[in-house]
Amino acid sequence: MAKIKAGVLGATGAVGQRFIEGLKSHPWFELTSLAASERSAGKKYRQAAKWRLESELPDDVADMTVVNVDPREVDADIVFSALPSEDAKTVEPAFAAAGMAVASNTASYRMVEDVPLLIPECNADHLDIIKIQREKRGWEGFLTTNPNCTTIMFTLPLKPLMKFGIKSVHVASMQAVSGAGYEGVPSMAILGNVLPYIGGEEEKVEMEPQKILGRFDGQKIVNADFSVSASCHRVPVMDGHTEALWVSMEEDPSPEEVKKAMLEFDPGLSDLPTSPKKAIIVKDEPDRPQPRLDRGSGNGMSVSVGRIRSGIRFICMGHNTVRGAAGASILNAELLVKKGLL
Ligand code: NAP
Repeated sequence: MAKIKAGVLGATGAVGQRFIEGLKSHPWFELTSLAASERSAGKKYRQAAKWRLESELPDDVADMTVVNVDPREVDADIVFSALPSEDAKTVEPAFAAAGMAVASNTASYRMVEDVPLLIPECNADHLDIIKIQREKRGWEGFLTTNPNCTTIMFTLPLKPLMKFGIKSVHVASMQAVSGAGYEGVPSMAILGNVLPYIGGEEEKVEMEPQKILGRFDGQKIVNADFSVSASCHRVPVMDGHTEALWVSMEEDPSPEEVKKAMLEFDPGLSDLPTSPKKAIIVKDEPDRPQPRLDRGSGNGMSVSVGRIRSGIRFICMGHNTVRGAAGASILNAELLVKKGLL
């Protein structure tokens, strides 16, 4: 099949660079446009962006000219958005109205009724709401979103536990500094320290899982009926969000039953190039998962779970800018192709 033309909005930023890394040799997508602010537009990408990833920036990408985030300047069938949320509010609908698919990584439209908030392993069927979105808004294109990075890491392992009747979830996060972007947290603030507050994070984490694990009734998404209580913290880790979970369930499963449910979880997405062999990896070692050792599992797309104890309590961990951001949007886009929407 001919490759699908892909653009990146916010291409020079922390998540934008991860998009480029994930798309530069993708079997289904071809990187055709890089867009950023007017500070960068008109420059070659190598001049506009300081490449901060360990993987190499290919010459053909470095030589591309950055354009403005304007649909008239972007040549693409799908755009991956890594813009600041405020800018995304006006920019993303403009691209959808111009006939492009938008795979957004930003918070702006996640909780809007006719916009799917996707984790392909959890709620691929929510994509059916796109038909309603297009009719309602008169768009030729459409808008999909992926969840907050902290939400993704624990909502994925909750999916196989839904059959036990989840009543409530408590989560304490230990979030990497890359989650705030390169300029986000000064080194003087985080080195040798823990920041016990991340603005707006707990609110997102307490709302998003119920939509993702909810059900599409043909007209709307009906939220799952459980509560989430979150405490979010920034820790001096470069990449990888670690989260401690307490999950109360009607059927009160044993740790062995929880482990079995996670091990047997098969979302049936092995035909998608970015899909990891195992979406959930269960570690038996008592001191795992750890960000330095486990964030690369499944090319950064697996969530690792460990220390499953009665209660039910467990730890989960995943790569925040891959599974929690760019990789999540790319997997969503692959699902769009599989479902015939692209
Ligand atoms: P970032 O490093 O600050 O990058 C921001 C990008 O947006 C840059 O390319 C910047 O271009 C561009 N930009 C800024 N203002 C703009 C404007 N007015 N018009 C057009 N482009 C503009 O931020 P980030 O960490 O990559 O985060 C991007 C988005 O992803 C945010 O909404 C964030 O909440 C979300 N997110 C981040 C993570 C993470 O782990 N970092 C995870 C999940 C979601 P210039 O270089 O030209 O300024």
